[in-house]
Amino acid sequence: MAERFDVAVIGAGAAGLMCAAVAGQRGRSVVVIDHAAKLAEKIRISGGGRCNFTNREVGPSQFQSGNPHFARSALQRYTSQDFIDLVMRYRIGFHEKHRGQLFCDGSSEAIIAMLVAECDAGRVQWRRPVRIVDLQPQPGDGFRIDTEAGTLSAKRVVVATGGLSIPKIGATDFAFRTAKRFGIKVIEPRPALVPLTFAADAWAPFVDLSGVALEVDIGCDSADGSTRFREDLLFTHRGLSGPAVLQISTYWKPGGTLDIDLVPDVDLGRVLLGGKDASRLNLGQALAAHLPKRLAARWQQAQRIDDRRIAELPDATLARLADGLGGWRVRPDGTEGFRKAEVTAGGVDTAELSQRTLEAARMPGLHFIGEAVDVTGWLGGYNFQWAWSSGFVAGQAV
Ligand SMILES: Cc1cc2nc3c(=O)[nH]c(=O)nc-3n(C[C@H](O)[C@H](O)[C@H](O)COP(=O)(O)OP(=O)(O)OC[C@H]3O[C@@H](n4cnc5c(N)ncnc54)[C@H](O)[C@@H]3O)c2cc1C
Repeated sequence: MAERFDVAVIGAGAAGLMCAAVAGQRGRSVVVIDHAAKLAEKIRISGGGRCNFTNREVGPSQFQSGNPHFARSALQRYTSQDFIDLVMRYRIGFHEKHRGQLFCDGSSEAIIAMLVAECDAGRVQWRRPVRIVDLQPQPGDGFRIDTEAGTLSAKRVVVATGGLSIPKIGATDFAFRTAKRFGIKVIEPRPALVPLTFAADAWAPFVDLSGVALEVDIGCDSADGSTRFREDLLFTHRGLSGPAVLQISTYWKPGGTLDIDLVPDVDLGRVLLGGKDASRLNLGQALAAHLPKRLAARWQQAQRIDDRRIAELPDATLARLADGLGGWRVRPDGTEGFRKAEVTAGGVDTAELSQRTLEAARMPGLHFIGEAVDVTGWLGGYNFQWAWSSGFVAGQAV
C-alpha cells in the first residue's frame, strides 16, 4: 500500500524547504522528495558560498514576469523582513553589501541548516536521493507518486524543482514537463542572469580587453525604457559579463541590441569640446580620466583617431567619439547558456496559477513554486526572496 501524506513537496531547494517547513508546522504530514545526493546545492554555492539570501528593498518591480504584478501578493505576505527575522532567530550573522543585498557572514550552510531545522520542527519526512518515476492524479484522491523507492500518495503536490540552470548540480525540466503534461502553459524557459556572447569576428577588436571592468548604465531594446541598470560591466574573451550584463540579460531577447553608456558620470562631449582649447592633454590622456586606460586606447584605435592633443582634433571627431562612448550599441549573438546562467527566466505561466496559493487552476491540488514559475528576480537576493515567499504562501495553502 502506498504511504499517504497530506503534502508531497518535489524538490528540496530553497522554495521546497520553506514550503515543507511551513506546511509541516501547520500540522500537515509532509514528505519532501529530491533526486540530488546533496541537499540544497544551489543555496550552498550561492553568493560565492555566503548566500545573498534576500534584499532589504523588495517589490514586484525587481522581478521580470509575463504578469509584472503576479509576485506582489506572495512578496507582501512573506516579506524580506520575515526572512531576516527567521535568520536572526537562528543567530546567523549577516551583513549588507551593495544596494541592500544581505549575505551570511559565514557559510551558506547555516541557511540550509536553518531550513532543515524548520522542517524538523514540522516533522517533515525525507525521501532523498530518490528519483521520481511517475506522478499521476487520482481523481478525488490527490496524487500518486511512483518513485524508485516505492509509491506514495498525497492530497496535494507542490512542484519546487527549480529551473534549468546549472544542470551539473541536478537541475531538470521536471516542473515544465509536468506542467505541460497536465495542459498547463509554460513560457519558453531561457537562461537569465547570464553572460552575453558575440560572434567571433564582431568581438575580435575587444578580445584583449578581457578582464577590464567599469561602471556603466545599461539598457536593451526588449526592456521597457525604464529598465536600465547602473552596475559594473566586465569584458570577457567571448563577450560581456559582470552584474550590469547579468541584470540586463533577463530582459534581452535574441536579436536585440544593448545600449550601454560607458561614461555614465560625465557628459563627455561637453568635457572634451568645452575644455578643448585650454587643454594640453592628448586624447588618450583625456579619455583615461573617465575610462579604464586599455578601453580608452582600444576605442581610439577602433575609431582610427590619432592620439594627438585634443586641441588639435576637429569638434566633429570629438563629438562622434563622445556619442559612441555614451551610447554604445552592440548586438550579442547569444548567451553562455544554462551552464552559466544563475537562473531560468520563463517557466510555468503565471496566468495558470493562483497568486495567493500558487495552485494550478487546471489541476486542483497541484502547486508550482520558486524558480519553476515565470517570475525571475534581479541579481541581489531577489530570487531567493521569491523562493521563500512563494514557498511560504503555498505552505500556508496546502
Ligand atoms: C551559482 C548560483 C548562485 C546564485 N546565487 C544567488 C544568490 O546569492 N541570491 C539569490 O537570490 N539567488 C541566487 N541564485 C539563484 C537561486 O539559487 C535560485 O533562484 C533558487 O535556488 C531557486 O529556488 P528553487 O527552490 O526554486 O530551486 P532550487 O533551489 O534549484 O531547487 C530545486 C531542487 O529540485 C531538485 N530537483 C530538480 N529536478 C528534480 C527531479 N526531477 N526530481 C526530484 N528533484 C528534483 C533539485 O535537486 C533541487 O534540490 C544563484 C544561482 C546560482 C546557479
